[in-house]
Amino acid sequence: MDRNLTKVLLDESEMPRRWYNLVADLPSPPPPVLHPGTHAPVGPDDLAPLFPMSLIEQEVTAERYVDIPEDVLDVYRLWRPSPLYRAHRLEKALGTPAKIYYKYEGVSPAGSHKPNTAVPQAYYNAEAGIRRLTTETGAGQWGTALSFAAAQFGLECEVWQVRSSYDQKPYRKIMIETFGGVIHPSPSTLTAAGRAVLEKDPDSPGSLGIAISEAVEIAARNPDTNYALGSVLNHVLLHQTVIGEEALLQFAKIGVTPDVIVGCTGGGSNFGGLTFPFLREKLAGRLDVTIRAAEPAGCPSLTRGVYAYDFGDTAGLTPLMKMHTLGHDFIPDPIHAGGLRYHGMSPLISHVYELGLIEAVAIPQSECFAAGVRFARTEGIVPAPEPTHALAACIDEALRCKESGEPKVILTALCGHGHLDLAAYGAYLAGEMTDHTLPAGRLDAALAGLPTVTG
Ligand SMILES: *Cc1c(COP(=O)(O)O)cnc(C)c1O
Repeated sequence: MDRNLTKVLLDESEMPRRWYNLVADLPSPPPPVLHPGTHAPVGPDDLAPLFPMSLIEQEVTAERYVDIPEDVLDVYRLWRPSPLYRAHRLEKALGTPAKIYYKYEGVSPAGSHKPNTAVPQAYYNAEAGIRRLTTETGAGQWGTALSFAAAQFGLECEVWQVRSSYDQKPYRKIMIETFGGVIHPSPSTLTAAGRAVLEKDPDSPGSLGIAISEAVEIAARNPDTNYALGSVLNHVLLHQTVIGEEALLQFAKIGVTPDVIVGCTGGGSNFGGLTFPFLREKLAGRLDVTIRAAEPAGCPSLTRGVYAYDFGDTAGLTPLMKMHTLGHDFIPDPIHAGGLRYHGMSPLISHVYELGLIEAVAIPQSECFAAGVRFARTEGIVPAPEPTHALAACIDEALRCKESGEPKVILTALCGHGHLDLAAYGAYLAGEMTDHTLPAGRLDAALAGLPTVTG
């Protein structure tokens, strides 16, 4: 097949039928998740108030592959397999010998990779007899994805959106409501967790950590209600591996292999989803590839956080996970990439980072938006603010190739479009975007709140 195609497509019949679990191939498993009170490893019963047993099993499975249910494949077919593009026009504009590919997840109903896990999560909850799902959302992508998925399986969906994003992105709210979801700004007065934050700071911009506390509180209190998380957890990354499995098939079609893969990391799900199948190939000695995470300089959990046990939320309701964290009290500045404003990193990605299998870089938002605009003007897609971090890292690598003359193959996930993020582009184009630096003192203060875990 032609190596110079602009897009590499798969037939529906070629769509992967199983998700890949990286844990099966790692030299050591990630550290256990601990109970927030006793600090003993959590068992399935501890998680049962929030998640259906099928997802709890996926969270802890050591099996290499998990079959994708037929009903989930049926919904996936609305937009999967997603295209793999060659960025000919961006390459030309950069004058680089590098070959840049991007796997485009903006073709989904929500406009991002999030439905890849929202759909199975809704499916398994409906199968378990659950009536309603609660969740948090940052930029609004996850709330949109879960509302869509809930509608597919007859579930109600209630979403707490981080206040700063709720105010910046009114169209996400309308999209969530169009899919049948109910949305509240977080912190809200509907939960004890939200009220506690508002008492201290009535103008709190919110954070993903606070919104998680609110959604978890409602789910824990109601037996017919479960909670769904859009990133961080093993089962979420598992579902997202459909991205990387497709990309492997697409590269095989054109006889090309990537030398460098870059992705943006908030909680790590699109990054893990794209890279884990390639990491499998690398661990098996079949592929020599550099894998690099790009995170915001304003919320740099991998590059400036510590690797420690911490809560997933602000109120300390969730189990303790060993991860790269800025501290569960950390409230990031209201950067425009709302989906990357999370204090922690997926425990699985944190573990892989500790093992030295991936690299990480942190990038200020104005550099990211410059990359986003450059990409839009060449490739014609306005990227979501989150993947502009990956694009900035990608352009960086391509420019290094220009200096060295190396024709490296670079792959990135363009994990969402930015059609509902135009206000952020407006701020950038008007020269009104500021870069938030993160003083060490503020980081130290948040890290001082880490729980003490012995053993
Ligand atoms: C949610 C989101 C992210 C961040 O989440 P990850 O779990 O790190 O992928 C990144 N990009 C987009 C488009 C998102 O919607």
